[in-house]
Amino acid sequence: MSFSLSPNHDSLEAYLKQFAAGEPEFHQAVNEVMEDIKPVIDNNEAYKQANVFERLVNPERIIKFQVPWQTDAGDIRVNRGYRVQFNGAIGPYKGGIRFHPTVNQSILKFLGFEQTFKNALTGLPMGGGKGGSDFDPSGRSDAEIMRFCNAFMQALHSHIGPDIDVPAGDINVGAREIGYLFGAYRRITGRFQGVLTGKALPYGGSPLRTEATGYGVMYFAQHILEAHDDSIDGKALIISGAGNVAIHTAEKACEMGGKVISLSDSSGFIYDADGLDSEKLDWVKTHKAKSGATLEPYAKKFGAKWTPGKAPWGLTGDIVLPCATQNELDEEGAKQLLKNGAKYVIEGANMPSTADAKSVFADADIVFAPGKAANAGGVAVSGLEISQNRKRQSDDRDEIDARLREIMEHIHESCREEGTRDGKINYSKGANIAGFRKVADAMVAQGVG
Ligand code: NDP
Repeated sequence: MSFSLSPNHDSLEAYLKQFAAGEPEFHQAVNEVMEDIKPVIDNNEAYKQANVFERLVNPERIIKFQVPWQTDAGDIRVNRGYRVQFNGAIGPYKGGIRFHPTVNQSILKFLGFEQTFKNALTGLPMGGGKGGSDFDPSGRSDAEIMRFCNAFMQALHSHIGPDIDVPAGDINVGAREIGYLFGAYRRITGRFQGVLTGKALPYGGSPLRTEATGYGVMYFAQHILEAHDDSIDGKALIISGAGNVAIHTAEKACEMGGKVISLSDSSGFIYDADGLDSEKLDWVKTHKAKSGATLEPYAKKFGAKWTPGKAPWGLTGDIVLPCATQNELDEEGAKQLLKNGAKYVIEGANMPSTADAKSVFADADIVFAPGKAANAGGVAVSGLEISQNRKRQSDDRDEIDARLREIMEHIHESCREEGTRDGKINYSKGANIAGFRKVADAMVAQGVG
């Protein structure tokens, strides 16, 4: 039997056009995975019989709701809220909540789809999900953020729970928002449960969750460089973003002896030829925590260069770590990086490279690692937070750091096992196939209703 998506669709394009119309980011994510897993499905009768691919490219459930909330001035505003419960074959749905004006169903479906593979790669029992709202928190007061979080949870609470779906943070949803969301859940349901991860320590959080994604990116980077007989020490790193992932990636990179020469935000980027250090990073953390603050004042304070309205892809460096948002690194940026001698692109954000940028890296001698493998450290530590909440215990920071290192090493090993050809590791292929097999095997074993 030859693999086809359904009796009525002989191409993936036709299928996505019908069932995911107007969802370009989702198409991009599916196409990228499909290329690698089609041969795996073609060679496996059980996968074909169970129609795993078609079941995998349709979310199990999408919950859509309105979020009505009140501004400080007393006006009532309405935003759109979503939770995409993508695939629960290997565990309760797990994935972040994003508050950003660009949030829509396509973005959340692509993120939920990627999350399914990422969570499987960690080796922990977590299904894939993602949620959020097109709410723009910039310039909003603390009280407005709290009211929005209350309203969001009012609509979401009946769809989540420790054995159902355990959301976490993502863009613009950090410790403060998780606190408000958790408080709202507890007040509405009367239950103190591990229903969200990324919580603060006093009510069940994990000591390393804030740093985990960025630290994990650098642990993964370390394995990549070692596999190429190279090391981070003395390398110049180009990092984009100035949020949770970017800052903690930069922090660990400095600790490992790398020289971080850039950070960016939605207004532009800074180039610091001397490299960032812990003092400069502490300043960025405090400064960017202020609502609407841009990186521009960094340049004056530390004698760096500020370039408004651009990303840092024209810089010269060895290791490139896009850590801001999806599709931030396009074909032109990829060509500039290639021309300037970049050797490694390791994604801290989810799908920050466009399909065309990935083609540039694939055709060149650049080692490319996708976000679903490199940034899995965040959800891995969230998985550990779930287990510690179930046990009503808390693990210490060193224990969690050791587990995080082990998990990133395990992910690197899975990519190597599934992605090596002619002595070269194709990290995208390795991650896609390793994640897919785990989810597909669980789907086959569980049958259909
Ligand atoms: P934050 O909200 O903490 O930071 C996001 C950063 O990206 C900010 O500096 C923001 O700039 C910048 N940014 C957002 N949109 C754009 C844009 N359109 N153009 C340029 N810059 C932009 O988010 P995180 O650091 O948590 O997340 C970053 C990425 O990592 C996302 O893709 C997320 O899905 C992914 N990720 C996050 C995990 C986590 O644990 N937090 C786990 C795994 C993946 P500004 O400050 O101006 O808004």
